[in-house]
Amino acid sequence: IADFGIKEALEQLGVSQTNHGTSTGSQSFGTGGEIASYSPVDGELIAKVTTTTKEEYEKVIDAASSAFKTWRVMPAPQRGEIVRQLADELRRLKEPLGKLVSYEMGKSYQEGLGEVQEMIDICDFAVGLSRQLHGLTMHSERPGHRMYEQYHPLGIVGIISAFNFPVAVWSWNTALAWVCGDVCVWKPSEKTPLTGVACQKITAEVFRKNNLPEGISCLINGDYKVGEMMTKDKRVPLVSATGSTRMGKIVAATVGERLGKSLLELGGNNAIIVTPDADLKMTVIGAVFGAVGTAGQRCTSTRRLIIHESMYDKVKNAIVDAYKQLHIGNPLDENNHVGPLIDKDAVKAYQHALEKVVEEGGNLVVEGGVLEGEGYESGCYVKPAIAEADNSYEIVQHETFAPVLYLLKYSGDVENALEIQNGVNQGLSSAIMTNNLREAERFLSHEGSDCGIANVNIGTSGAEIGGAFGGEKDTGGGRESGSDAWKVYMRRQTNTINYTTELPLAQGIKFDL
Ligand code: NAD
Repeated sequence: IADFGIKEALEQLGVSQTNHGTSTGSQSFGTGGEIASYSPVDGELIAKVTTTTKEEYEKVIDAASSAFKTWRVMPAPQRGEIVRQLADELRRLKEPLGKLVSYEMGKSYQEGLGEVQEMIDICDFAVGLSRQLHGLTMHSERPGHRMYEQYHPLGIVGIISAFNFPVAVWSWNTALAWVCGDVCVWKPSEKTPLTGVACQKITAEVFRKNNLPEGISCLINGDYKVGEMMTKDKRVPLVSATGSTRMGKIVAATVGERLGKSLLELGGNNAIIVTPDADLKMTVIGAVFGAVGTAGQRCTSTRRLIIHESMYDKVKNAIVDAYKQLHIGNPLDENNHVGPLIDKDAVKAYQHALEKVVEEGGNLVVEGGVLEGEGYESGCYVKPAIAEADNSYEIVQHETFAPVLYLLKYSGDVENALEIQNGVNQGLSSAIMTNNLREAERFLSHEGSDCGIANVNIGTSGAEIGGAFGGEKDTGGGRESGSDAWKVYMRRQTNTINYTTELPLAQGIKFDL
């Protein structure tokens, strides 16, 4: 740890050995049982965080409800100014926070820094947005009338996040929700509670310096039971949940039951189509980064390569060669390409996938395996694997959150590749490698990819914050981040104003007294 400056990073972020996991801002408390956060990098205990009790949750909701009354009347550009200050703090603390993300979650230091950069980017985006929360003006059918729509804040936004993007997903939600006038309650993943504590401390200081009330930024901690406190709570009009499809179905049903809104960002099963016109070098880089980056633990990780039969052997051999050059090890060491999986359960799921694909008739062309010995003491390091398979296999249809890449072959037209690509339940990210305009446009057309993200000559992972992010089908249908994703954090109101002395009715209806 000393070599990589983790102790210093924890100190700079104000994370101690035992941390209160419940907070309304400057005030933190915690009497619930502790979560011990172990690093998948070296298996060491990093620190502990207390979980949120029902009584503490009530305190948080009281503070948030009361803060909403102050925050919603502050002009949006002034709320944007607070988010701008948060971006400044994130710039100042980019290195320690990036390091903690890397050490607690296991992604490479470069990706940890990238995640913090994404937080800064969404804050900057939100600052501009704070002057553009606009609705439309319509022409009324009635003389002397004006119609327009405006967007108002919703209230408390509950955020439930996954372990793999422990800080960026929170900021995608909060930066927008705050400029929209909402207050936020965040439950980070129980696998990465410390990055949550660090973000809350950074944010609380910004709100404190601006003399803003407690409750605008709140933190709760624990497992699904703590998440359920929000999904069942009518006082939380919007729950934004990122994680597995299994979780999303439960959250959607629970929030839907009380007619709340949910924003769901769930699992993917992303593919790259490699056509006869693909650039081989770009294909290899895109596919390998997509499959092994973050050890295959991105929702947008490349899981399936759908290769035209005329290119199949060439692409397979080039990718197998590229895998031989991968360095697996401590993600804080920048010479390594692939870090650990999050925990031993994830290792088991990886092993299960490899067994299952062989059982179903697949052929492992890069075998994989769990690494042991010096540098791999945590037991969470695995070798990225490649299997030749068929799209119909049950395991190929399933998202395994690990570096397992399936090679699938297609023949004939790009339509056949699209059928394979769309032939899964998930609909998050997709890509085509081609220099053929017809194929590219076909892929992007209404008959093409059915995913929320469709890229040409780029891999499936690594989205920018400027576009709306999310996917269809089992991915949940939610959109976060750029474009007009902000609208989900607000309620729309249609206003009609009559500036005459008459009261004509719409549709020409007569009603005389
Ligand atoms: P997970 O579903 O196990 O947990 C995610 C979060 O949901 C955690 O905070 C957990 O405590 C909470 N949770 C679980 N059950 C709940 C319930 N019944 N009620 C309320 N909260 C509940 O997911 P994970 O293992 O942390 O993350 C990996 C998954 O997340 C993958 O499927 C990945 O594709 C997906 N993911 C999707 C996106 C996206 O934007 N589409 C982004 C990141 C991760």
